[in-house]
Amino acid sequence: MEHQHSPLSGPVLIAGAGIGGLTAALALEARGFDVEVIEQRAEPVNTGTGLSLTANSTRLLRALGLGEGLRAIGHDAVAVEWRAGRSGRRVAFASMRGLHERLFGAPALAVHRGDLHALLLQAVARRPRIVLQAGDGVASVEEDAGGVTVVTAAGRRHRGMAAIGADGIHSRLRAALVGDAGPRYAGEIAWRAVVPASRLRPEERLDRFVFWLGPDRHVLAYPIGGPAGDWINIAAFMKVADPPEASWTQVGKVDEMRAAYAGWEPRLERLLQGVEACHLLSLHEHELPAAWSRGRIALLGDACHAMLPHAGQGAGVSIEDAVVLADALARQPADVPAALAAYSEARRERVARVMATVRELGAQYRIANPVRRAAFHTVLRLLTRLRPDLIQRRLAWLYGYDASVALTAADG
Ligand code: FAD
Repeated sequence: MEHQHSPLSGPVLIAGAGIGGLTAALALEARGFDVEVIEQRAEPVNTGTGLSLTANSTRLLRALGLGEGLRAIGHDAVAVEWRAGRSGRRVAFASMRGLHERLFGAPALAVHRGDLHALLLQAVARRPRIVLQAGDGVASVEEDAGGVTVVTAAGRRHRGMAAIGADGIHSRLRAALVGDAGPRYAGEIAWRAVVPASRLRPEERLDRFVFWLGPDRHVLAYPIGGPAGDWINIAAFMKVADPPEASWTQVGKVDEMRAAYAGWEPRLERLLQGVEACHLLSLHEHELPAAWSRGRIALLGDACHAMLPHAGQGAGVSIEDAVVLADALARQPADVPAALAAYSEARRERVARVMATVRELGAQYRIANPVRRAAFHTVLRLLTRLRPDLIQRRLAWLYGYDASVALTAADG
């Protein structure tokens, strides 16, 4: 379904060249739109740590022509394992390799965030109808009957048919559109780090997702950096009543991270010993807005629905948003407000369900009450023994979802 849009209608303007913004640019270009991405950072690089992508997002990236690139940067983990933090006793195990492809028709791959970002940037660079302007962020957006005008911090004016806020958790466009108090502290912090796999003993190199579970804290580690899993991604979570600092993300103190898990399984302790530098994040989430668009302006990704990372879905649902948004605009390019309203309508319920699930999972991983914790571990063990793919199947609504047919499904 390719439309050629009159030059008078102008490009779609996207604030933010993160995973959501770049995917939206590619999806819109594939449907015949001109796109301008306006990014505040001079170097739109995204280093950071790891990211797990599941079938619901990899199927969309594949449809955008990125399947091969994704395979080259992705690691297909053999399994998921849950362990008791202190003793290291295996609570449960579920085999994974190739499972998403078999069950849901697309792979689950763990990637380095920087690799995924580079893959998206390369794809954008190959498409002349997408213009990426870096180094001058969006300061405000104005709408009139004929279109939108985005004004940057340096005073540049960009004219377009629609403005999409993909400008992350501190979104300017969200502030203008929703006007709520912004994201709220979710009561937990996370240390994030990567360790070269070569730094681990050969018998301790990870080929799977491993959760270490404990009261009020848990750790997740998994390989990233391509099929060989050259790096281990670590996210160590802890409940903390008040955010540690005013800032949201800062260079963390490696000693404090290690101290938080002192006395846990020696294998985890050795993994943490391999960390040279880490980041400390205070985790925030948004209240999901009732409407994600107003007139010709809409929100996408973390700008709209920053969520906790406990199901590894923040980037995944941003990729879904991007595809539904592009489809909605391609269906009715002459009525942008109606198209954006249809996008918002098609996404809200799904994202609300993902956000609720993510909260539930985080709470289960670090139950403080020992009786309840033991009961949860027993249930997890029995379920995974009974049916190793049961957890994935129970989440079929999440992973099996195909955003590229969301609007057709909504038509009934
Ligand atoms: P961002 O990636 O934040 O991009 C926003 C972009 O907008 C940035 O480039 C920024 O510089 C730019 N920008 C900001 N303001 C302006 C402005 N005024 N003008 C122009 N540009 C602007 N998700 C997963 O799917 N799987 C995972 O395994 C996973 N793990 C995670 C682990 C942790 C600990 C955390 C915290 C998050 C995790 N996530 C995961 C979530 C994921 O990182 C985010 O949901 C995702 O990166 C959001 O993408 P985005 O494009 O919406 O926003």
